[in-house]
Amino acid sequence: MEGPPLAARIRAQVAEEVRELGGVGLATVLVGDDPASELYIGRKQAAAAEAGISASDVRLPATVSEEELLAKIALLNADEAVDALLVQLPLPEHIDEDRVARAIDPLKDVDGLHPENAGELYLGRPRLVPATAVAVLALLAEYRIELVGARAVVVGRSAIVGKPTAQLLLQANATVTVCHSRTQDLARHTLDADVLVVAVGKPEVVTADMIKAGGTVVDVGVNRTDSGVVGDVGADAAEVAAHLTPVPGGVGPMTIACLLQNAVRCARLRRDAGA
Ligand code: NAP
Repeated sequence: MEGPPLAARIRAQVAEEVRELGGVGLATVLVGDDPASELYIGRKQAAAAEAGISASDVRLPATVSEEELLAKIALLNADEAVDALLVQLPLPEHIDEDRVARAIDPLKDVDGLHPENAGELYLGRPRLVPATAVAVLALLAEYRIELVGARAVVVGRSAIVGKPTAQLLLQANATVTVCHSRTQDLARHTLDADVLVVAVGKPEVVTADMIKAGGTVVDVGVNRTDSGVVGDVGADAAEVAAHLTPVPGGVGPMTIACLLQNAVRCARLRRDAGA
């Protein structure tokens, strides 16, 4: 299940919607100089610019205080030119990520991490949903993977990937199991999965012998190793699964495209709200 062709279509659609709306503004905030975070911000900025989104790239030092970051978010919340606002995670340890998520205007919350947006998703009224979860469901739809009545297993329960993906699968009428670091006998669950989504951040946490023959496997993991970037699923999984997303080139490009889609959604929500 390749990501780039669908991602390109979504990005073209986003560019058209940005033109229709007469412009969309995105602000990204990066705290510190973590190389992986810098890479992600660079990709988001480049993709936004290509789609005609005006993107501002706010950089703050790792030593910035929580109060200073919250003050910057308040300024961006009040800025009419900013439709969508993203604070790149992880943040330095002295900053409470929860407090930051709550500080973002819920209608500008392009990452879907504000409790109001997470709550809407939980209640079955998805509004702004973390882009990776949207990306996983879009890939499954593109490849016409049957979800109604299917057994779906999500490995990982983070607020940004595992939980929202599980919620969307449930809303698509799959029967969903969520596994995590305390799950006993992980293979017992994964072997039963018609659709398996793995979002852990550890190479080979799922190996070929843990996959149902003919199943669909979405590998969200991104792990930098001596042999390059690999996912969470062993490469030999392709011999067992009917569908498997590659890493890189699967969920990653789709996440960026869905993030841009969310920025357009923020702009529409704000215009509908009369902001
Ligand atoms: P995270 O916040 O660290 O969450 C990891 C989850 O995996 C946790 O729920 C953890 O369980 C669980 N886990 C850890 N070890 C496990 C094990 N041995 N067996 C089963 N579950 C285990 O990570 P994240 O932000 O969700 O990201 C997950 C991966 O996806 C990372 O590699 C990240 O880089 C990648 N990612 C990729 C994209 C993309 O666009 N491709 C986007 C976002 C993230 P506990 O809750 O019990 O600790």
